[in-house]
Amino acid sequence: MAFELPQLDYNHDALEPHIDARTMEIHHGKHHAGYTAKLNAAIEGTDKENKSIKELMLTMDMSNGALRNNGGGYFNHCLFWKGMSPDGGGHPSGSLAEAIDRDFGSFENFKNAFSNAAATQFGSGWAWLCVHDGGKLEVCSSANQDNPLMPGIGCGGTPILGLDVWEHAYYLNYQNRRPDYIEAFFNVINWGQVQTEYDVNK
Ligand code: MN
Repeated sequence: MAFELPQLDYNHDALEPHIDARTMEIHHGKHHAGYTAKLNAAIEGTDKENKSIKELMLTMDMSNGALRNNGGGYFNHCLFWKGMSPDGGGHPSGSLAEAIDRDFGSFENFKNAFSNAAATQFGSGWAWLCVHDGGKLEVCSSANQDNPLMPGIGCGGTPILGLDVWEHAYYLNYQNRRPDYIEAFFNVINWGQVQTEYDVNK
């Protein structure tokens, strides 16, 4: 069965001023749609057609460029959209907040680690908050459309929050000011959704 571009839970302009409507329109409607179409083309007629997107990531043949880039692009953007909300921002609560305090010392320390991972990822890529079996949290980054589910990425666990730091994610509004975009992202993080991902994957 072919993968479908997920609908957004909010309008293109709903994340303004932090993420502008035109960027959302192109990013979701063109970039993510493109990864989706190319992922479907890459698996059509193969034994991968009926696998879940997570299975495809976990069993990735890293020499298969079309599947790696477009499958990663599909998975990563699905997580990215869900991780944001017009009602987002603020701080996590409950067991996720406790895990952040336990593993990073404080929310501010986590924010610094995540922001640093996003800012120092050279070129295109992603920053991640991941959970390992048992609940331990880790921050890392990866290049291009790779993600921590893929073999040999160097950071492990299951990503529960991702930040796209490709220029297409911020250039219209922020130009070269990636740090400003990273700061703005914290105003739209959907912590309720991140808690759900944490509960499901810990
Ligand atoms: Mn993107």
